Amino acid sequence: MTQLALVIDLNVCVGCHACVTSCKEWNTSGEAGFMSDDNPYDRDPTGTFFNRVQTFEVGEFPDTQTVHFPKSCLHCEDPPCVPVCPTGASYKRPEDGIVLVDYDKCIGCKYCAWACPYGVRELDEHQKVMKKCTLCVDRIYDEKLPESERKPSCVLACPTNARLYGDIHDEESIVSKAIREAAGYQLMPEWGTQPANHYLPRRKTEAKLPGDVAGRTDNPLNIDGPAPVSGQAR
Ligand code: SF4
Ligand code: SF4
Repeated sequence: MTQLALVIDLNVCVGCHACVTSCKEWNTSGEAGFMSDDNPYDRDPTGTFFNRVQTFEVGEFPDTQTVHFPKSCLHCEDPPCVPVCPTGASYKRPEDGIVLVDYDKCIGCKYCAWACPYGVRELDEHQKVMKKCTLCVDRIYDEKLPESERKPSCVLACPTNARLYGDIHDEESIVSKAIREAAGYQLMPEWGTQPANHYLPRRKTEAKLPGDVAGRTDNPLNIDGPAPVSGQAR
């Protein structure tokens, strides 16, 4: 069975929110929309999002790192949000593994949001139905689009290519190779939900800078202080 999913590389995500805004734009005007916003430019903005980026500082000073963590529905292979739905509105498609909500059947009871361990379902306060990532199901099969654009809009928008998309059950797909080669992992596997989306962990990367750049006082990697400039005492 095909299982479409996203693989997100935490090593290269820079937290720019391009995926968040492109998701909002496509899905608000696409067939799966709309996503409500109240007071978007006011003091107390609220709204529905399919995809959010959370930013954490990890480690202990001075050894800290900033980690940007994009999160949306993980299209679990064994999704607990589906069997709890009393109307059958929440379902998993057998042909590609995408988990969807049928808005015509949803009564907004929020059982699914309680069952999801990842907190990715949001009630649309205007339509009073549950919303979540659809993996841009109204885009990835759209034959009017060039084949290269038949991908979730967040994947197309990411400026660092931190988001990969494909079939994790196909061993030769770009996502399966990335999971294999960079030790991709699932979020909270202890819940037994088998999330289809995976994350690639942050890795140590070696910075190779030319000497004159490495010694500059404004270089944050220069932990030994500025390099001596010839003819000048330190
Ligand atoms: Fe359901 Fe949550 Fe899994 Fe998405 S991440 S399939 S909403 S349990
Ligand atoms: Fe089903 Fe809608 Fe209730 Fe969720 S909120 S369990 S999709 S009826």
